Amino acid sequence: MCIRYPGIRLGAFRRTYGELKESLLAELANYSYAQALGGVWNGSEFELRFPNKSVVMFRYAETILDATRRQGGQYQLLLFDERTLTPPDVIAFLESRLRSGRADIPVLGIRSGSNPGGPGHLAVKTRYVDATNYGKRVVKDVRGRTVRFIPSGVTDNPHLNSEYVDDLKALPDKLRKAFLEGDWNSFAGQAFDFRVDRHVIAPIAIPESWRRYNGIDWGFAKPYCVLWGAVDEDGRVYIYREHYGPGVGEGEQAQRLAAAETEMEVVVARYADDAMWATRGDAKPIADVYAANGVHLTPAGKGKGSRVTGWQRVRSYLAEGPACPHHRALGWETCPLLHVFDVCENLVRTLPALPHATTGDPEDIDTDAEDHAADALRYMLINLGAGPEFVIFDTATSEVVPAVIGAFGYRLPEYEPSPWWEQPAPPDGGDQDHDQQWWP
Ligand SMILES: [Zn+2]
Repeated sequence: MCIRYPGIRLGAFRRTYGELKESLLAELANYSYAQALGGVWNGSEFELRFPNKSVVMFRYAETILDATRRQGGQYQLLLFDERTLTPPDVIAFLESRLRSGRADIPVLGIRSGSNPGGPGHLAVKTRYVDATNYGKRVVKDVRGRTVRFIPSGVTDNPHLNSEYVDDLKALPDKLRKAFLEGDWNSFAGQAFDFRVDRHVIAPIAIPESWRRYNGIDWGFAKPYCVLWGAVDEDGRVYIYREHYGPGVGEGEQAQRLAAAETEMEVVVARYADDAMWATRGDAKPIADVYAANGVHLTPAGKGKGSRVTGWQRVRSYLAEGPACPHHRALGWETCPLLHVFDVCENLVRTLPALPHATTGDPEDIDTDAEDHAADALRYMLINLGAGPEFVIFDTATSEVVPAVIGAFGYRLPEYEPSPWWEQPAPPDGGDQDHDQQWWP
């Protein structure tokens, strides 16, 4: 491209210079920095320049702050190596730098290489993999740009030796599916084994006797999420409704919540992000605005343990138990302890796409990923006891093992939610994963 379009500016990105050095720059060195094409490498500026004034700028961008440092720059072609490792908002900001001030230099767009996994997994899967049906067709996006996905399987690369393929075949199931078979529904670092064919059901009638709860994650620039769950006689949880989306004010959120419920629908408790009790300068806490609109919330409670404890609880509900009546009628021996109605499309879309954190505690979730529905689910489940007490069918070993967890209705004392009037407001604003900055 540099030779074909004199004066073109290319930006080649990874998260850090360290990653650039190990990948793109190492490859570039193997080709003597394109000397054969007249390339001149500037190792202090990380730029490859050509006599016709074209330039490739190698840059790092791990955060929005990194990306804004490129604010003055403009590019006609952006290259992302391991694209899913870069958060989607960073990609979006850099994309806004795609332009050309000269009629003779075209804007070529973006080319990315990637594997499944990472905070950008869902954005890439939606935009490229799902939109093109795994590359079977080429599509136009809303701005008329061509979107193409080229699956590159291990057998497509003639330079890889057979040992490498054997190594991939020997990987654990999830890694093998992602790396060998290019399966974007399964990836390394996937936090939850949530499967549409096991966990998602068409809506069924919910008996009035089942207790109902909310899990609520607040957001404005980023989406807010309200989930409604009902608990059956055995303690299985059915998520039967969701509200989800960005740009809805807290008063409006509360009104929509109240309007969605029927007169017969009694929600026992509405567990919400502790951050909703934080003071906001002159503005009333969000929980107070909800209350002013007739919706009274209960802090989900840091006393319930860490975020990681909450994710473990989510996993224990995703596990299998003896089949519910609905699934028994379908001939299933076991079914998950969590059922999600198919109308809850954002929970269904985002929960399986969440990756483990790559910084901090690896048992945590990467907060750069779209985790709002998962947070709402966590706030509910951490307050519902440890789930049903019956044997758990271990799908990995096909062994039936007795559950070591307390039953719903026989809740372990430490999980007994105390009433909201006994709970102190969180001193530090609760979950600190709400970055309210959004670009552009
Ligand atoms: Zn079931």
